[in-house]
Amino acid sequence: MGFSTIAIHAGNEPDIATGAVSVPIYQTSTYAQDGLGRHKGYEYARTQNPTRSALEKNIAALEGARFGYAFASGMAATDAVLKLVRSGDHVILGDNTYGGTFRLFNKVLSNYGIEFDLVDTTEATNLEQAFKPNTKMVFVETPTNPVMSVTDLQAVSEIAHQRGVRVVCDNTFMSPYLQRPIDFGVDIVVHSTTKYLNGHSDSVGGFVALNDEKDAEWIQFIQNSVGAILSPFDSFLVLRGTKTLAVRMEAHDKNGRQVASFLAEHPKIQKVYYPGLVSHPQHELAKRQQKGFGGMVAFETGSLDNAKKVLESVKLCILGESLGGVESLISHPATMTHASVPIEKREQLGITDGLVRISVGIEDVEDIISDLDQALG
Ligand SMILES: *Cc1c(COP(=O)(O)O)cnc(C)c1O
Repeated sequence: MGFSTIAIHAGNEPDIATGAVSVPIYQTSTYAQDGLGRHKGYEYARTQNPTRSALEKNIAALEGARFGYAFASGMAATDAVLKLVRSGDHVILGDNTYGGTFRLFNKVLSNYGIEFDLVDTTEATNLEQAFKPNTKMVFVETPTNPVMSVTDLQAVSEIAHQRGVRVVCDNTFMSPYLQRPIDFGVDIVVHSTTKYLNGHSDSVGGFVALNDEKDAEWIQFIQNSVGAILSPFDSFLVLRGTKTLAVRMEAHDKNGRQVASFLAEHPKIQKVYYPGLVSHPQHELAKRQQKGFGGMVAFETGSLDNAKKVLESVKLCILGESLGGVESLISHPATMTHASVPIEKREQLGITDGLVRISVGIEDVEDIISDLDQALG
């Protein structure tokens, strides 16, 4: 079956009790049991909820995974995955992951004896030197936020698997419509469903998709034991969101390409970061690994002053954190999403004070471009 068919039907069977075509919001904390030890598979809503189960089936199917678990946020999902490693284990972390992911390693997991090293995984061979006898996981994000560096998922998976190490990919920027990491050998996919999967800037959530049965059992155990579950209402919203994922991603991709081309030709802009541009250093890899280039574009204005002018002059694009919604959002990574990344690291990655990031929405592209044009003027 094709992607859109799966998106609309997987997990979305008509309700058994009423025939409701949309999976109802099962807003309940507990379930009546038929007798001692006899129930319908639902005992308590932290452990099982039908709306959440429907979403879990749906996104797992979209990622080509056997198992899927929905969490209260992308960070809760990432944290659950990191509970596959223990004190004394070592993790190789891509050096340009989402700021909150770095913060989780640097400020939280480090207190629990989990070692990590940052590695530029855009050269897969850089990984070779980074393995230690206690390395248990490689965690990457591609394309990265906000400079859109691309990591070769197949090459990274091969190198890690030779050493029996699992690979995790944060697939938030692409969504399963544009990139399916498991097809390239990745073991575990994590998402912030807050972004493209939900797609309407009205829910915070996270997801873990994977094939390994033992790891899946542990993730489910963590989901229930720690309890950072996605609520029934948020599960409903994301399930509604994924039904249109294909058409939305096509539109984000189309608009993203046009906005990137416009910016690349603008005399006031020094540099544009977008894997769809032929000038992008990993354009060929992106073409191979992704079905499109998506709606995330970053550009260099040269200074904090210039960035500030653009960010405060836009009228249609909304100044704000987050991404992946139908509306165009514009942000300043250095002071917003990446404020928790040390300044030296930011500079090394190209996250300068003049860098501006746009999550290109699905409005009419002429309107987005004319808004940017007036703001740059
Ligand atoms: C937003 C984001 C996260 C964190 O997700 P939350 O839902 O905000 O907790 C993780 N990774 C990436 C790439 C993100 O954009």
